[in-house]
Amino acid sequence: MKICMVSSESVPFSKSGGLADVVGALSKALASLGEEVLVVLPHYGFMTHELIPTDIEHTVSLLGSEERVTYAKLSEPGVEYYFVQHPFFTESKGIYGPTSSSSYEYNHLRYTLQSKASLELLKILGWKPDVIHAHDWTAGFLPYLVKRDPSGFFEKTKTVFSIHNLAYQGEFSRLDLLETDIEVDPLFFVGSGPKKRANMLKTGLEFADTLSTVSPTYSKEIQTPEYGCGLEGLLQRRKDDLVGIINGIDIDEWNPESDPLLDYSFSIEDISNKALLKRQIQEEFNLEINADVPLFSMISRLVSQKGFVELLEGEVCALEQLLATERIQVVVLGTGDWELEKKFTELGARFENLSVNILFSNRAAHLLEAGSDFFLMPSRYEPCGLNQFYSLRYGTLPVARRTGGLADSITDLDEDPQRGTGILFDSMTGHGILEAVRRALAWWNRGRAVIDPIRKRAMAYDSSWTRSARSYQELYRKTQGGFTK
Ligand code: ADP
Repeated sequence: MKICMVSSESVPFSKSGGLADVVGALSKALASLGEEVLVVLPHYGFMTHELIPTDIEHTVSLLGSEERVTYAKLSEPGVEYYFVQHPFFTESKGIYGPTSSSSYEYNHLRYTLQSKASLELLKILGWKPDVIHAHDWTAGFLPYLVKRDPSGFFEKTKTVFSIHNLAYQGEFSRLDLLETDIEVDPLFFVGSGPKKRANMLKTGLEFADTLSTVSPTYSKEIQTPEYGCGLEGLLQRRKDDLVGIINGIDIDEWNPESDPLLDYSFSIEDISNKALLKRQIQEEFNLEINADVPLFSMISRLVSQKGFVELLEGEVCALEQLLATERIQVVVLGTGDWELEKKFTELGARFENLSVNILFSNRAAHLLEAGSDFFLMPSRYEPCGLNQFYSLRYGTLPVARRTGGLADSITDLDEDPQRGTGILFDSMTGHGILEAVRRALAWWNRGRAVIDPIRKRAMAYDSSWTRSARSYQELYRKTQGGFTK
């Protein structure tokens, strides 16, 4: 099968979150299963990879004019990457905005340009995809553009649209929509009267042949008002075309036996070096060097989705209570909302057992995943989540809210002591988080003889992409079979 992926980010070129990991790893996994994959990505100004220039050039109609687009490329076994070059991207310092917490005002134009350009590129290359797999709101217009393409080139092409996070929808005014030079369809819109807005994610959900999201639990959750972000009605209507496929991870990049970002390696047979990595964390993050104190880490965008409001709210917040009353160390690695950054930094200044690091560092992420005892993910919602997979793979037990992919990949230790791999909790409150951490501490206090076999069990969890890529292959086949609208 010929599969064309269109995404705003992909490792190893650009990354703001889990989407980049999925696109990068899924493309490689599909290629290793024998599929032909072509990935279209923006060529952002901050990218430093050695790309090969091409002589492909065309124009895209936008803002009532013709915008010139060129391409760079990179070939890997089974995967061809094409990078869309236009000042919208090549002159941008960030993916969606100049900083991680701001957005470019003209994002609707940037990503409409990418979608339109992708289709032109495929025509110029004469590369007829069986399936175009569009990811998230940025590629929301793509399924519509494929259906409306007048050339006949995409006559046999089907589209899959994947939701990685329903909360980011790409909404803008009708006036802005005019700038995209796209023939308007009533299905683009949400709201009514003066509140009527064009919505790129909704457009993807309306026009794609099939839909997917990144875990079975999230695929159900988003059909409810609590998690549906206003689109639950549409998702219920299309529920027969919607599947939840849990993500895998790049098991070569995240491998405790051969991780080049780590000074010590360990394996399921011998986890003793994990203690040396814990010691290294305590040294590097200015914590007391003590093997007996349980070390919790958090690596995340600092946004309300991840449960930080509940963790930090109240006069004496849950985190503060834990730091003050329990023998525990916590490391936070993250960037995001300014207010959350500030609260964490203030708390970090007051507690010696809390290390707050407002930065994005892949090396630090690997070290923390590998050397910590527990990994805290109190997410309000989590479409799939990746960090719990990394944690499991490094024998770091996740303590997580029972939602989305967290519910699908972690087994609670108290509910199933024989198979448990972490702690799952339901109540999205500071109290809920406190109780969950205390349950984790109760397991810790049972000693190494109890914890080590649990760690090894967690490390045995199969988080490879091969399993998930097979489910996507099945979805592509079904999509081609045209079992939907
Ligand atoms: P989301 O996509 O909602 O941000 P995920 O858990 O699916 O959440 O993926 C987040 C990814 O980004 C993980 O690979 C995580 O390790 C990484 N990440 C987030 N913040 C940082 C940071 N400050 N430094 C390094 N890696 C980070």
